[in-house]
Formats: sequence, C-alpha cells, structure tokens
Amino acid sequence: MHYIDTHAHLNLSAFDVDGAAVIARCAAEAVKVINIGTKVSTSEQAVALAAEHPHLFAIVGLHPIQTVPGTHDEDEIGEGGRPFTSRGEVFAYEVYKNLATQPKVVGIGECGFDYWHCPKETYEIQETAFLEQIKLANELQLPLMIHTRGPKPGETSPTGRSVYTDVYELLHRYATVPFNVHFYAGTLAEAQQFFAIGGTISFTGVVTFARQYEDIIKAVPLDKIHAETDCPYVAPIPYRGQRCEPWMVKEVYAKIAQIRGVSVEMVQEQLMHNAQMLYRL
Ligand SMILES: [Zn+2]
Repeated sequence: MHYIDTHAHLNLSAFDVDGAAVIARCAAEAVKVINIGTKVSTSEQAVALAAEHPHLFAIVGLHPIQTVPGTHDEDEIGEGGRPFTSRGEVFAYEVYKNLATQPKVVGIGECGFDYWHCPKETYEIQETAFLEQIKLANELQLPLMIHTRGPKPGETSPTGRSVYTDVYELLHRYATVPFNVHFYAGTLAEAQQFFAIGGTISFTGVVTFARQYEDIIKAVPLDKIHAETDCPYVAPIPYRGQRCEPWMVKEVYAKIAQIRGVSVEMVQEQLMHNAQMLYRL
C-alpha cells in the first residue's frame, strides 16, 4: 500500500544537492509525491521531475508571494539557503498552459492570497494572478491547489475579512473545477463552505505538534482531507528541526488516525483514494 504527499517542493533549492537521494528514499518508502510549482522555473522543475520518476507528479502555477517583487521572509529557504526574495512574476498564461498539458501534471497552483508576507497594497496583483489561474484550471479542467495565509497577529487583511472567505468567494464565483486548500488552518465552518463547492483541505506535519488542529481533524469527513508535508518546511515529530522530506508524510497519516481513533491503514486507504479522485492519478 502506498502513501502520497499531496503538496511537496522537491523542486526548490533546498533539494539542489541531494534531491536524487530524497526521491529514492520516497520510492523505497512507497511514498508518491506531488511537487508544486511556485513560479515558472520551479513549475518547469516539477514537470521535469515527474517526467523522470514514476512516483512523482506535478502541479504548475504562480504562488501569491511570487507575484510581489521583493517579498522577503527570513524563515523561508531560498537559493543556497539564503533568505528567499521574490522578483515578482506576472502570470504568463500561455507558458503555464504549455506546462500544464505535459504528462503527469495533475493541477494548477499554488495560487490564492498571502496576507502574511505581502503588503496590503498588493491585493489586486495577487487577485489578478489567482483569477488567471482559475481561468486556466477551468480551461484545462484541472483541479486547483490553493494557498491561503492570513495576516500577522494584530494586523488586518486587505479586505477586512478572513483569507478563507476571500478565496471562497472567488472560487465560488469563478471556478468550475474541484480544488484543495493546502496547509489548512481555518475554522470548521469555513472548511464546510469549501466542501459544499467541491473543495477539500490538507494538513501538514504541524498537526503532529500543534494541538489546535485536533477538533477539526475529528469533525471533518475523512473523504474531504489530504495529507501533505509542504517540504522543505515544517518537519513533523519526530523529525523537528530537520529539513522536511516527503516520506515524513507517514507521520501525518499516523496522527490523523490517532486523533480519529481509527487504524492507520484505514486512513491510508481513504486518503490515497481521495488523492486519486481529486488529481486523477
Ligand atoms: Zn507550498
């Protein structure tokens, strides 16, 4: 029985040196991986990796952070381990369309809104890139991978609303395809709104050490969720402090099973099925 990490970034520079060894470890652990593009170059990289390895798949698109020049976050791992700085990319529709029609590309994104890293005045730039990606997903009938990050504590969002409400409204109005809200940290009510319009949500290794996810993991239908690592970020327990790798997604499956009081095999079977349904693997 296989596992799948539905949101990984083996296409980022954190894996430049030893990516091949990491990919081999995933195969040895029977872990399939969907690598998510964040801009043109990393989308190309995800497509190339998928072409080369049977257990890898790709999603191509433009991350909201990458739409804004100079967005800077010392917590993120950039080129050669230096802090990550975006150059600001406009969504090149035809370039992404060409990438999206390559073999083993299973979705569009990650796209959405990031109110944590991007200043308020960039809302419209982010919205434009998001709408373009919804349009491309509709045209190709591929699911969307949604990124959402609310504002820093004490700050307000550009719209004065929750980031989940903002993505919901655009998806509800414009998207004709299913989607997944990755790294979910919203409320149960917000999750149910997404489920009602063809959405799913995914959880990372954070659920292994942050208790605030327990209630929602208990309450949501098991056929509406996915497990992911978002590697190289947020390694689960017992790997905290290490670079995260996709095979560590097993810890997310185990935690979901523990919280719900069911067997890991049952979670594994259902989540594999969920991923196969959404991404048509
Ligand atoms: Zn990501």
